[in-house]
Amino acid sequence: MKENNQTETRNESRSFIESFIEKDLKEGKNDHRIHTRFPPEPNGYLHIGHAKAICLNFGMASKYGGKCNLRFDDTNPVKEDVEYVDSIKEDIRWLGFDWEEREFYASDYFGKLSDFAIDLIKKGLAYVDDQPADVISEQKGTPTQAGQESPFKGRSVAENLDLFKRMNDGEFDEGSRVLRAKVDMASPNMHMRDPIIYRIIKTPHHRTGNAWMVYPMYDFAHGQSDYFEGVTHSLCTLEFEVHRPLYDWFIDQLKTDDYRPRQIEFNRLNLTYTVMSKRKLLELVREGNVTGWDDPRMPTLCGLRRRGYTPESIKRFVDLIGYTKVEAINDVSLLEHAVREDLNLRAPRVFGVLNPLKVIISNYPGDKVEDVDLINNPEDESMGSRKVTFCNEVFIEQEDFMESPPNKFFRLAPGMEVRLKGAYIIKCEGFKKNEKTGAIEEVYCTYDPQTRSGEHASEKKVKGTLHWVSARHAVEAEVRLYDRLFNHEDPSGQKDEDYRKFLNPDSLKILKGCKLEPSLKSAKHLEKFQFQRLGYFCVDYDSTATKLVFNRTVSLKDTWAKINK
Ligand code: ATP
Ligand code: MG
Repeated sequence: MKENNQTETRNESRSFIESFIEKDLKEGKNDHRIHTRFPPEPNGYLHIGHAKAICLNFGMASKYGGKCNLRFDDTNPVKEDVEYVDSIKEDIRWLGFDWEEREFYASDYFGKLSDFAIDLIKKGLAYVDDQPADVISEQKGTPTQAGQESPFKGRSVAENLDLFKRMNDGEFDEGSRVLRAKVDMASPNMHMRDPIIYRIIKTPHHRTGNAWMVYPMYDFAHGQSDYFEGVTHSLCTLEFEVHRPLYDWFIDQLKTDDYRPRQIEFNRLNLTYTVMSKRKLLELVREGNVTGWDDPRMPTLCGLRRRGYTPESIKRFVDLIGYTKVEAINDVSLLEHAVREDLNLRAPRVFGVLNPLKVIISNYPGDKVEDVDLINNPEDESMGSRKVTFCNEVFIEQEDFMESPPNKFFRLAPGMEVRLKGAYIIKCEGFKKNEKTGAIEEVYCTYDPQTRSGEHASEKKVKGTLHWVSARHAVEAEVRLYDRLFNHEDPSGQKDEDYRKFLNPDSLKILKGCKLEPSLKSAKHLEKFQFQRLGYFCVDYDSTATKLVFNRTVSLKDTWAKINK
């Protein structure tokens, strides 16, 4: 029942966008076309917040038989790079979306945008301002107090045309002049107070090279780009709501018929225990707090992919949080829940021992080996079973043995019996301890030959079942365990405190000498497994045929929830 209610709320919360679209369709707007776009700025790698915008824009287009463009908002050559363009395309494809041949760039429209700016100048609706940016911003006033008119506002059309041309010819220094739209310095909306629409930048652009010395501001490019592409529904995050009147004002000057893009805003995705801004993520990379954009602790799509997340789990999470008009921070444990649910269905079970302790079975012949049969996934019979080799020496997890266990410790301890999963019941007869360190070095057991799993006499019951790996057949691996990158729920929301102060010093733990079942020897990069009793793991890019490296995607249970209670 609870599930159903949740599903209903989700659909309701999501439907405000859908109902706008359906109403527009019913009214026959834009010839019944639905056309959306995803407009990233290529100044960083995509993060999971972007996935929310991607799922929405591509999702709405596909639901209503429309199209979704990919458009790079590349209006600032100083921060942008082809490396980012390539990674963005790779990540969108990985999520499973296709923009077909519609790959566009705001820079494709630099000519049209400049023509439009010249039109505005000719109509007396734009002027060149010679004041520096800080003076212009001081003159903007406050929301309750009108701004001050620029002393350059009265320039003639001819002078403005001449200056704008010379700005683009490279005659003036960066920052020495800007072009502003002439809107209303007394508007209660600060964005309408003669916004800057063009600035001088002399850095070459990754696509247009040195063709331009003036570049449109994001606000001057964005709405018009939608318009040039015939976008009908411009779905964007809430912070753009206050920009909407300005976008509308530009389109009013530009449009020739009834068509205009309709902007609808929704809430951003924010996650607990991380930061979600490309600027901050870039800082983490540059300052070496993570190993790169694809560090498995990063909330980037490439980081999540390397960590072992599936596209399905990310889409499922986006679906669970829904689209609303209210800003919130989403609990990362819901994302972890989504990946657990998905990997539970698709990840084969295997044995891996992270902190090995050798168990010697004294009554099992030293020269004997046998293969035991283990089911690959109890959730999916079609995944079949595999053979795992058993012999007289196996590794178990150090924490599965205790010299003097408390009550209810159903694992291995002197005199106690456990089942080695899929194999036999063993009994602990003794152990070897390092007198200096107190570390347990070996455990000695006997096995009961009558108890092989799946055979008649295996009715004998014991409370504990352990995973294990044959010591003589195990392959070694490095396993990387990740914890949250920050130890504060909202690291960037703390006034007067830099988010870096909350970096979790224990967010990465590297285990060497882990022992895995031999079937994992040939596992491919990003291949995913459930290490039984431990969690979901995937093969890292650093893994080679001679040195296996695994990442833990997520543990089997939400350990944080327990700690926090
Ligand atoms: P950031 O603030 O992380 O730098 P951005 O908004 O500057 O991101 P863009 O490349 O401009 O990054 O974003 C492309 C699209 O993705 C925009 O339409 C934006 O609204 C959307 N988007 C960005 N971040 C989020 C988020 N956290 N949740 C939902 N949508 C987002
Ligand atoms: Mg942006």
